[in-house]
Amino acid sequence: MEPYRIKVVEPIAITTREQREAALERVHYNPFDLRADEVTIDLLSDSGTGALSAAQLSVGMDGDESYAGSRSFYRFEETVKELTGFARILPAHQGRAAERILFSTLLQAGGIVVSNTHFDTTRANVMLAGCQAVDLPCPEAKNLDSHEPFKGNIDLEALERYLGATDGPKVAVVVMTITNNGGGGQPVSMENLHKTSEMCRRYGVPMFLDAARFAENAWLVTRHEAAYRDRTPRSVAEEAFRLADGCVMSAKKDAIVHMGGFVGLNDLELAEKCEQLLIATEGFATYGGLAGRDLDMIAQGLREVTEPAYLAEREDAARYLADRVRAAGVDILEPAGLHAVYLNAGRLLPHIPAHEFPGQALSCQLYLEGGIRAAELGSLYLGEEDEAGNPIKSAPYELVRLALPRRVYTRSHYDHIGETLARIAKNADSVRGYRIVEQSPILRHFRAKLQPA
Ligand SMILES: *Cc1c(COP(=O)(O)O)cnc(C)c1O
Repeated sequence: MEPYRIKVVEPIAITTREQREAALERVHYNPFDLRADEVTIDLLSDSGTGALSAAQLSVGMDGDESYAGSRSFYRFEETVKELTGFARILPAHQGRAAERILFSTLLQAGGIVVSNTHFDTTRANVMLAGCQAVDLPCPEAKNLDSHEPFKGNIDLEALERYLGATDGPKVAVVVMTITNNGGGGQPVSMENLHKTSEMCRRYGVPMFLDAARFAENAWLVTRHEAAYRDRTPRSVAEEAFRLADGCVMSAKKDAIVHMGGFVGLNDLELAEKCEQLLIATEGFATYGGLAGRDLDMIAQGLREVTEPAYLAEREDAARYLADRVRAAGVDILEPAGLHAVYLNAGRLLPHIPAHEFPGQALSCQLYLEGGIRAAELGSLYLGEEDEAGNPIKSAPYELVRLALPRRVYTRSHYDHIGETLARIAKNADSVRGYRIVEQSPILRHFRAKLQPA
């Protein structure tokens, strides 16, 4: 059960089918463009969408808004250092700002960054620094139906081949994303982290963590990795950070705040350079684009997020939703992670070809039928068509992500999602695809305009 009770509530929109039809037509069948108050259950992202605790609000009231040297910074810094062990902590306004500060300082044009899977902003920041982003996910990740517990791992053999090959010396850093967001929110085992760290040391390449969901990863390690069964998630997280040379963190995930992030570093010379860029582009080194109250709320959130009762409930809630989805006759990317359940839209709607976007069709249907907003992660996100709309490239899988905000929705909201999906699945044959009528050259899924095919 939830290890908390509700003290403050926020009404959600209860809309009619006619209102939803009109809204979806107005936004050209792209739910990203809906107004949030037209959405009943918003599963677009788990980023910055969590509920603050009374303790977080309380420490926020004591935030020190001094321009430099605020006591909020020192409390934040102490907490993050205790958790991660890194020598220098630089606050930033969110994860991608931390990535930009790190990569534009650490990387030189022509270099290579290798990862279990780059998150999309991480990849964008590597490319903006003139470098190439290479993903080496483990082979188990390719099978959506397998229940392997650590499908977020990096492929160690491929990594060794890569580091030992002619391009090896160009690898500037290996980034381990925990959990592997771009790879279905799957966790990375401690064995895989240990071996990666050891290999990186052997080749003289630093290893960094993209630690947005470090606590969820640590929890799944205690659940599925025999050697860690009796450990607390906090101690697993501490060990993971200490295998790395540094980290970037989006605090909007596992610090359960609405805005924030940081870079952690052991290399003092690199930290010095990052700090100069931070001051020029984010803010002074003791606030980095955040308010004092944000820094205090991050520190408190980092303490709450590794509590076993919180993580156990989060796992149970995701499992509850996954069970409802399967019972509705919809397959998911197995096993269900903690931060999201990914629907296999390609399998549910086999009559819709990739260039008519089965994932987008399912996500529009979720909104029409149940006022639910989800993100397409299929060929609208990863594909490409020619002028006439014929496919050039399609995604390997047509998925829809139901992201789960932290501490926000209850089991009856999840029942509503299950019932909505059951209605859609019963009439799956009648769901139509979509065609793009207008798109932007990059990141088209955010603003593309579509019409029913
Ligand atoms: C969200 C996320 C980021 C980017 O963080 P923002 O706070 O959204 O800028 C980077 N990496 C991973 C794995 C993420 O999930």
